[in-house]
Amino acid sequence: MDDLPPFETHRVDNQPPPFEPRDLWGDDVVLRDAVEREGAAAFVSRVATYGALAGDELYRFGFDANRDRPRLRTHDRTGQRIDLVEFHPAYHRLMDVAKSHGVAGLSWHEPAPGAHVARAALSYLHHQAEAGTSCPLTMTHAAVPVLQREPGLRAWAAKASAPHYDPRDVPIADKAGITLGMGMTEKQGGSDVRANATTATPHGDGTYALVGHKWFFSAPMCDGFLVLAQAEGGLTCFLMPRRLDDGGKNALRLMRLKDKLGDWANASSEVEFIGAHAWRVGEEGRGVASIIEMVMLTRLDCMLGSAAEMRMALAQALHHARHRMTFGKPLVDHALMRNVLADLALESEAATAFALRVARAVDAASRDPHEATFARIATAVGKYWICKRAPTFVNEAQECLGGAGYVEESILPRLYRQAPLNSIWEGSGNIQCLDVLRALSRESGTRESVAVELASASGRDAIYDAFVDRLRTDLSSASEAGTRMLVERLALALQAAVLLRAGSPAAALFVRSRLGGEHGLAFGTLPDDADVGALLSRALPA
Ligand SMILES: Cc1cc2nc3c(=O)[nH]c(=O)nc-3n(C[C@H](O)[C@H](O)[C@H](O)COP(=O)(O)OP(=O)(O)OC[C@H]3O[C@@H](n4cnc5c(N)ncnc54)[C@H](O)[C@@H]3O)c2cc1C
Repeated sequence: MDDLPPFETHRVDNQPPPFEPRDLWGDDVVLRDAVEREGAAAFVSRVATYGALAGDELYRFGFDANRDRPRLRTHDRTGQRIDLVEFHPAYHRLMDVAKSHGVAGLSWHEPAPGAHVARAALSYLHHQAEAGTSCPLTMTHAAVPVLQREPGLRAWAAKASAPHYDPRDVPIADKAGITLGMGMTEKQGGSDVRANATTATPHGDGTYALVGHKWFFSAPMCDGFLVLAQAEGGLTCFLMPRRLDDGGKNALRLMRLKDKLGDWANASSEVEFIGAHAWRVGEEGRGVASIIEMVMLTRLDCMLGSAAEMRMALAQALHHARHRMTFGKPLVDHALMRNVLADLALESEAATAFALRVARAVDAASRDPHEATFARIATAVGKYWICKRAPTFVNEAQECLGGAGYVEESILPRLYRQAPLNSIWEGSGNIQCLDVLRALSRESGTRESVAVELASASGRDAIYDAFVDRLRTDLSSASEAGTRMLVERLALALQAAVLLRAGSPAAALFVRSRLGGEHGLAFGTLPDDADVGALLSRALPA
């Protein structure tokens, strides 16, 4: 202590260096392998560019956008209604970089094979840096195919997929790029959208006046919203602009912003429609059918988002454990900590690999009916399981940092608040499971597409083969009360299938622990003879 400068009480020691800047693409072997394997090799350089941005500039912006939360301004200083949300400039910067790099539109703007997989990778990288902006980016992406089918709304589809961000409150005619939101959930019911009570009355010129409300209405500064309302013919989908073509304000009022557990950079509002102007999308009474494709895409992004949260949490935990010394050696060299980290690495790899596999099914859906059927069921299976795993996972990774993991300056508290959201919105857990059950029992080709996928990995691992044999039988006799158990087992088998087919070094241990019963209820319970060294080096380069 003698060599300390005057008035200094101690030397700062044994603290890990800053996590960022970090190349989120270069560091992620699992992602890089998956992008190549699932058919997006042609887009690699663009995804790589985004990975470098996400681990540096966007990562830093994420802290500002979440610290300074969006504020609702209902009126201007003269008392005029304005219904505007103000964001920290970092929010707009995040949106601008994301939109201009194709996070919301690459798949539609450059529709080559593999484009959906590349966009999925971009979305995964973006979500690691900042999750709140993922909401409007995802909704914008998912709304495009619905709008493309409407000849009168193709300009909206083109501008939504264009690589431009323009936050100005002006009609879309004055913008090169736009964003889109969605309004389905009302106070009396969200999962059961048929309970929607908002009414739509035709003006007689193809447009409608909407009266009612939405209880959750995220990203209300989007340029337009796909909303459900009851027309004479039943529940119908509409596109509602925020600004009218003549520049006037459409008749929607933002009542308040939700005070949310997390997702702080993103504004989620309650809104009322007072005769709001809207165009019909699809036939009257076909509202649910109109939004089906959209829902498949938002579910894919929920899955990607949760996989991204796990990946970021894992990278933080490994980074910390490599640099922090306890009891005379780095944390990462303690056998029990190695078990925890390796177990997290397995879970993260399976989540990422499966999410990208589903992205390939979405990518190929328009060309291959088998992949279309697989995408339909796999988005629900993955949305249920991967999103369900994220909160527990993030908490475990947080614990690897000790007290530092509970402090905002590490990104872990933000990830922890965000983690439950993906399993709640876009159809909560039970809704996904019931949807899987419905698809298996009523939709032709679903059972076969699952069987083909599972069979593609057979013969490589005896534990896997035995597990899949039992699962095949159970798939034909599923009951509603037992659906969670069935979907969990199906998800594990599908994740294992991807890892086995890919020849991943994680495959055998994943199968042994998740399918073979050699695992406890908590992370860090891998069999003690497991060789985890290679897994840990693969998970994050030293
Ligand atoms: C931060 C945030 C932002 C959101 N943004 C939007 C948005 O922009 N637009 C939008 O439209 N919505 C949005 N939502 C709403 C979200 O999609 C709904 O909250 C969600 O779909 C659940 O609907 P609900 O809240 O009405 O719950 P309910 O429908 O009441 O369901 C409650 C629970 O019961 C379960 N359940 C329901 N029916 C059954 C059944 N038959 N069997 C077994 N279990 C069942 C559900 O799985 C759920 O767990 C947002 C939500 C949040 C939290």
